Amino acid sequence: MKFFTYLEQKGETMTTCEKYEENLVKCNCTYEPCDKKGTCCDCISYHLKLGEAPACLFPADVEATYDRSLKNLARTILKDG
Ligand code: SF4
Repeated sequence: MKFFTYLEQKGETMTTCEKYEENLVKCNCTYEPCDKKGTCCDCISYHLKLGEAPACLFPADVEATYDRSLKNLARTILKDG
């Protein structure tokens, strides 16, 4: 997967983000204990390593299932046409 390799090669994670507060307001993730909320680069890296997508790519009803697999994302996109 090309974008995953890119993130790995870059080898950087951002621990502070100037858009942190703004990101938190926009974040639709309902998994409250997560420490990556508001730090989107860490969120995306984390899920890509697991073969998943971040919560913000899913509609609310699918996000709430916590099935963030790329397979579920594809299924969701194809279902919504
Ligand atoms: S999508 Fe995943 S990593 Fe991102 S805030 Fe939600 S639980 Fe955390």
